[in-house]
Amino acid sequence: MDGPSVVGARVVAKGADGHSGEVTARYVVVAEGANSRFGWALGNQRNRAYPLGMALRGYWTSPRHDEPWIDSWCDLRDESGKSLPGYGWIFPLGDGRVNVGVGLLTTADIWKGANTTQLLDAFCKWVPASWDIRPGTCLGPPTGGRLPMGLSVGPRSGPSHLVVGDAIGMVNPFNGEGIAYGYETGRLAAEVLHEALTSGNPGALRSYEERLQAEYGMYYRVGRAFVRALSRPDVMKACIYTGIRSRSIMEWLWRIMSNSLRPDETGPAEAAYKALVAYARVKKPSGK
Ligand SMILES: Cc1cc2nc3c(=O)[nH]c(=O)nc-3n(C[C@H](O)[C@H](O)[C@H](O)COP(=O)(O)OP(=O)(O)OC[C@H]3O[C@@H](n4cnc5c(N)ncnc54)[C@H](O)[C@@H]3O)c2cc1C
Repeated sequence: MDGPSVVGARVVAKGADGHSGEVTARYVVVAEGANSRFGWALGNQRNRAYPLGMALRGYWTSPRHDEPWIDSWCDLRDESGKSLPGYGWIFPLGDGRVNVGVGLLTTADIWKGANTTQLLDAFCKWVPASWDIRPGTCLGPPTGGRLPMGLSVGPRSGPSHLVVGDAIGMVNPFNGEGIAYGYETGRLAAEVLHEALTSGNPGALRSYEERLQAEYGMYYRVGRAFVRALSRPDVMKACIYTGIRSRSIMEWLWRIMSNSLRPDETGPAEAAYKALVAYARVKKPSGK
């Protein structure tokens, strides 16, 4: 650090030799993922009122490894049959393997005790036998991690650094996806740094937060409100038993949840999203 500015990083090679070096830089992008120790050292904190997910995935061999579609089950249940806010998936990889996993919202107090290892076990027992998901076809222990959601971590910039991806809690609260948002915020950071470098004005970094808010602020606020609603067992039950059986509701819900709305269109998905925006606006911005 030079005062409040990050001026580089100490880099330690992994492995036996463990040699290290210092890299200095005019600007630094923090892209460390959900466990951002560098970010925490800079004072970044997660807003604990915002949703957090947990996910666990493993790999199995499967006779259905080359299916053209992914399968996803929104009706996630633990071993006792209790519904949980999350989903299970099987992603065929086409090379003999499938990726099987579960993702769960853990924010609401009622779900805090959920154990993703037990949940994945229960899910594997439950999926159709045609996938052949069993201990004998498992390729190794599953791995997982936290999914910080809804722009939950900040501050997201400083005088000489920007933070991107999971390190700022960019996972989409509607669906638990974070890969696209890692790329998108990386690209946004690159644009801002390009401006700072070509203009010679470090103040350009301040526009990063504004651009993030313009691009994602309202969508993530709606997503946080959606998560709060889904964390109520009565609402979740209604979603499962009504929504999931209606093709049209599922289609517009999918458009909202995958951030595939088109601003120039005025279909039911866009109308439903406007209603959700109105709902989110009357709620406290803290996410409570
Ligand atoms: C089980 C599971 C399944 C998921 N499935 C999906 C999915 O299907 N679709 C989807 O969109 N998202 C999914 N996600 C979320 C997605 O993986 C993340 O949102 C995304 O990878 C975030 O990208 P990132 O670049 O910000 O962080 P990461 O992908 O975590 O990358 C951070 C990198 O920084 C490295 N690093 C960390 N600290 C340091 C340090 N101090 N020095 C040097 N290097 C460091 C790490 O080793 C890592 O390589 C899943 C997450 C989990 C846990």
